[in-house]
Amino acid sequence: MGTGLSGKTAIITGGCRGIGKAIVERLANEGAKVFALDYIIPKTDEVFIEDSNIKELVKSIQVDVTQDNSVNSAVQEVMKETGRIDILVNNAGITRDNLLMRMSESEWDSVIGTNLKGAFLCTKAVSRIMMNQRNGRIVNIGSIVGSIGNAGQVNYSSSKAGMIGMTKSLAKELGSRNILVNLVAPGYVITPMTEKLTEEQKQYYLQNIPLKRGALPKDIANAVWFFVSEDSNYITGQVLHVDGGLAI
Ligand code: NDP
Repeated sequence: MGTGLSGKTAIITGGCRGIGKAIVERLANEGAKVFALDYIIPKTDEVFIEDSNIKELVKSIQVDVTQDNSVNSAVQEVMKETGRIDILVNNAGITRDNLLMRMSESEWDSVIGTNLKGAFLCTKAVSRIMMNQRNGRIVNIGSIVGSIGNAGQVNYSSSKAGMIGMTKSLAKELGSRNILVNLVAPGYVITPMTEKLTEEQKQYYLQNIPLKRGALPKDIANAVWFFVSEDSNYITGQVLHVDGGLAI
């Protein structure tokens, strides 16, 4: 276990599975007290975190990131327990893929509502706390399709492109308070979200990724660790593709 984040508090949205869970484990392994905010949380945190070294450091809280009240009450709960919030990772995200002509308004609204508005609400809820602390790290989890687009994902790619604009604007707005904001953009990661891809889609990715494999959630968590560590003290407003070279 490292100690790089000991004494710090982190919030990870969508933190109970997939990439979010890997980020929770990575930051807890560096000594942070980590709160996994998720729509569906496990019955007990014991079921959720297997590693006995970090069990004590991790707590899950039920949250719907699309709802202002839900987000604010979770942030208050975190503040009650630790009195500070040093790190926010906006990771919760959904897909509702369809071709434009078939895409319903609700498919558009739900993806923009969760991925983009959710990140806005969570960031707004922690920003005053970070501003008072004169210290904070915000990492948004985007996607390479926010930069390169993808047929059948007009809603999702728009939400992720929006997160790039949000990242750069926040970096400018919050920089004077020593709050750094960056975005990690994964390519194809093996998680429950991508389980629903067809075999043909998975093969497409494998053939076109220069590194010839999908990412593991921990590959993304390692990039997040960089952005919350002291080693990135002078980096803000950046987009880092973690995609095995897929978007080159
Ligand atoms: P998963 O579907 O495995 O996990 C997403 C998590 O977000 C789930 O735990 C889900 O909760 C949670 N979530 C969804 N809606 C809400 C909500 N309204 N409030 C709170 N939590 C919510 O996805 P991944 O781990 O694969 O993806 C994580 C992030 O990485 C997403 O932002 C995704 O867009 C991005 N990404 C993923 C890629 C991939 O290949 N997997 C590629 C590029 C980007 P529940 O299950 O309880 O509904």
